Amino acid sequence: MPDLFIDGGWRSAVDERTREIRCPADGSLVGVVDEAGGKDTVEAIGAARRAFDEGPWPHTPADQRGDLLLKVADLLVRDKEALARAESLDTGKRLIESEYDIDDIVNCFRYFGRLVTQETGRVIDTGTEGIDSRVVHEPVGVCALITPWNYPLLQTAWKVAPALAAGNTFVLKPSELTPHTAIHLMRLLDEAGLPPGVANLVLGAGPEAGAPLGDHPDVDLVSFTGGLHTGRGLMAAAAGTVKKVALELGGKNPNIVFADADFETAVDMALTAVFLHSGQVCSAGTRLLVQDALHDRLVDEVVRRARGIRLGGPFDERAQTGPLISAAHREKVEAYVARGLAEGAVLRCGGERPAGPEYADGFYYPPTVLDGCTSGMTVVQEESFGPVLTVERFTDEDEAVRLANDTVYGLAGGVWTSDEAKAARVAARLRLGTVWINDFHPYVPQAEWGGYKQSGFGRELGPSGLAEYRETKHIWRNTAPRPQGWFA
Ligand code: NAD
Repeated sequence: MPDLFIDGGWRSAVDERTREIRCPADGSLVGVVDEAGGKDTVEAIGAARRAFDEGPWPHTPADQRGDLLLKVADLLVRDKEALARAESLDTGKRLIESEYDIDDIVNCFRYFGRLVTQETGRVIDTGTEGIDSRVVHEPVGVCALITPWNYPLLQTAWKVAPALAAGNTFVLKPSELTPHTAIHLMRLLDEAGLPPGVANLVLGAGPEAGAPLGDHPDVDLVSFTGGLHTGRGLMAAAAGTVKKVALELGGKNPNIVFADADFETAVDMALTAVFLHSGQVCSAGTRLLVQDALHDRLVDEVVRRARGIRLGGPFDERAQTGPLISAAHREKVEAYVARGLAEGAVLRCGGERPAGPEYADGFYYPPTVLDGCTSGMTVVQEESFGPVLTVERFTDEDEAVRLANDTVYGLAGGVWTSDEAKAARVAARLRLGTVWINDFHPYVPQAEWGGYKQSGFGRELGPSGLAEYRETKHIWRNTAPRPQGWFA
C-alpha cells in the first residue's frame, strides 16, 4: 500500500522513489516506504489549501472538532500495542518507553479535544450604546508540521492535535528516519472521519520533501521541531511570505546540584536526566553543574552507576537504554567527545563503542561522563544529542546561575537543593522555558513547553499551544450607524 496521504487518498511518490527503514538496534529491515520529492509536497499543500478554503473543517463547530480528537484518542488506545512496536522498531528505543509515549499522545489529543471547547472568544463592553465588540478565534490556515526522529509520534501529536482543534488543515512531514507511526496516525484520522485534504502526509528528506513547506506561498504557518541549524533555515525560508513560525529547537540543559541536595535522588536523576533514550532528548540534562563540596562524591557515584547501564534493543527487557538513531549520528556524538577531550575534558567512563556480537549491527554508544569541563568547551556549548554528560563545578548560587545560563540555548533544566528559598531564587534567574526543582523531565499537557533564547519560540501544549494555531480577530459592530459630522 502506498504511504503518502494526500487529499484523502494514499499514493506513491510522483517519481516512484522509496526508502528502506532499518531498525537502529540491529539493522534489520522494518519496511520500505515511499519517498516524496518537492512535487509531491506541493501537491499536498494544494490539497490542504483547497480543504481550508473550500472544505467544511475550518467552519465545523469547535465541539465537533473536539469530539473528533477524542475519537482519535480512543483509536490510539485501541492501537497502542501496534503503535508502540512500530515506534520502537523505527527509533530503536525500548518498548516500554514507546508505550509511555503512546499514553502521552492519547493525553495530548484528549487535552486539546477538550480545551478547544473552553477557549472561546470574548465580548468586550465598550460602554458605548449601539456598539458590539467581540474577539473571536479563527484557524490560521494551512500548517506545515515538521517533526524529528527522537519522539516521532509524540512530537507529531503536539502539533497535529492543536492544529486540528483550531480548525486548520495541514501537511505533516515527519523525519525520514521514522515514518511508520505517522502513517498509522493518518489512517486513524481518516477512520475518525476527518474530511479529505485536512490531513496530508509526505515522507522524505528535509531538503527535498521538506523544502516547499518553508517557502510555498500557500502555507500560512510552519511549526518545526528539530535542530537549531534547520530551524534557522526554515525561519529564513518562511520570511519571504511572512508565515507564522513556531520553532522547538535544541537544548544544552543544565542540571544544577547544590551540596544540600538529597544525594541519592540527585544521583539517580542525574543519570535519568541525561541517559534516558541515550541522550536523544531535547530536554536531556547534559550539563551537570555540581557544587564544589559535593563534586567528588557525586561524580564518583554517577560514574559508577553509568558504567553499569545496560544497552540493548527495543525488546530486550533487561536493557536500560538503546542505540543511537543512525551511523551518522553516532559519528557526530563521537566527534563531540573527541573534541571535548582535545579541549581538556577528563573521560571518566564510556567514550568507546561497546564490544560484543549483540552490538555489532546496531548504532550503540555507551553512557559517557566527561569531568573537568568548562563553559568554553564545544561539548558544553553544542548539542551532541547523545549519552554524553559534561560536569562543571561551581562555588555558589551566583556562579551556578551564570554557568547554567551560559549557552545560546534555553530549553529546560533542573535545580537540586533542600533549601526551598534558594530553589525559588535560582529558578527565577534561569533563562529556561521549563525549570524542574528536585526533579527532571516530567511534563503535563496543561503546561506550556518551549524554549528561551535559541531553543526556539512559540509554545507547544497548554493554552498557548492552541493559541499558536489561531488567528484572533476583533469584530466591532455599530448597531446604529449615524453620520459623525466631522467634515460636514
Ligand atoms: P533535524 O533538524 O535534522 O530534522 C528535523 C526535521 O526537519 C526532519 O523531519 C527533517 O527531515 C526536516 N528538515 C531538514 N531539513 C529541512 C529543510 N530544509 N526543510 C524542511 N524540513 C527539513 O532534527 P533531528 O535530527 O530530526 O532532531 C533532533 C533535534 O530535534 C535536536 O536538536 C533536538 O533537540 C530537537 N528536538 C527539540 C524538541 C523540543 O521540544 N524543543 C523536541 C524534540 C527534538
